[in-house]
Amino acid sequence: MVVVMRSQANDADVDKVVKAISEVGGDAFVSRGKNQTIIGLVGDVTQFTELPLHAFPGVEDVIRVSKPYKLVSNDAHPRPSTVWVGDVPIGRDTMTLIAGPCAVETEEQTEGACRMAVEAGAKILRGGAYKPRTSPYAFQGLGEPGLDIIHAVARDLDMPFVTEVVTTADVETVAAKADMLQVGARNMQNFQLLKEVGMAGKPVLLKRGLTATIDEWIMAAEYIAHTGNLQVVLCERGIRTYEPATRNTLDVSAVPVAQSLTHLPVIIDPSHSGGKRELVMPLIKAGIAVGADGIIVDVHPRPEVALCDGPQALVKDDIVQLRETVVRYAEAAERTLPTSDTPRREGAWGRSAAG
Ligand code: PEP
Ligand code: MN
Repeated sequence: MVVVMRSQANDADVDKVVKAISEVGGDAFVSRGKNQTIIGLVGDVTQFTELPLHAFPGVEDVIRVSKPYKLVSNDAHPRPSTVWVGDVPIGRDTMTLIAGPCAVETEEQTEGACRMAVEAGAKILRGGAYKPRTSPYAFQGLGEPGLDIIHAVARDLDMPFVTEVVTTADVETVAAKADMLQVGARNMQNFQLLKEVGMAGKPVLLKRGLTATIDEWIMAAEYIAHTGNLQVVLCERGIRTYEPATRNTLDVSAVPVAQSLTHLPVIIDPSHSGGKRELVMPLIKAGIAVGADGIIVDVHPRPEVALCDGPQALVKDDIVQLRETVVRYAEAAERTLPTSDTPRREGAWGRSAAG
């Protein structure tokens, strides 16, 4: 950390900062410039952050140099980690497709969408039973019966699935059946939910909040990691900008930025970002091109009657193109598609004893 003193600060002001730092066991290095003095702090940053240095007389600014997150930082773990969802890896060598309906509506619709996902080459299914909706009048999801439907369909197809959990009260119920828990964009800073989801011990898909900075998103991942659960996959799903032509703006640069800061896999959601079917394929291409570790995409057998997010769902006619696009772009990005033969690296990060 660096403390920048005001140009009017006197020696007594500088001494007060130096004394406070040494009292918490840190070292302070004073550099006196012509106009301004700066003080470099070395030691355990967590101790300095407790000090109200901003409020000290003569202090102009306090600048943090080291990253605020530790467990998910790639300083702590320079090799990218692989998160295993059932037997499916999500990591830097593979391109993992996750697909399914936005929401579980009926058995028939869920099965139809999941079969489309399989045909597209998806290795993990998705489907929301608990839906965080902007309007209280919109379909809120089927709840536990919906969870049972996606669970039964996934087991029938012998596939793992991810589903969202929106409140702490449902974590245990969802974790008992789902292979991966999703924390949605609207809950990215629901810290109690992050902690309880982390403690459930299952892999977590953490969506980026609509207005969250990359640092805030990674700090949310740190909350999960802090519970001892490092099986976190980050998902860039578009952020709120001034542009109304798309539902959200897919921040493609967030993929390499987040990958440069953390060891966690980063995937993209072209459905909730673009918000329109015709944008899904171009955004998938962009995501793979910038180095995403996977894609999560909405598909629906009859989007014209979908209860949630029909306009962005890919349809049956899109499936061959989806499959071929992922294959071609993954190959160009020198990634393999996970198969049942993908070696499961023992001891890899993100693998819990429970699997
Ligand atoms: C979803 O994936 O179903 C969803 C609601 O996404 P997000 O939280 O990114 O809006
Ligand atoms: Mn949706």
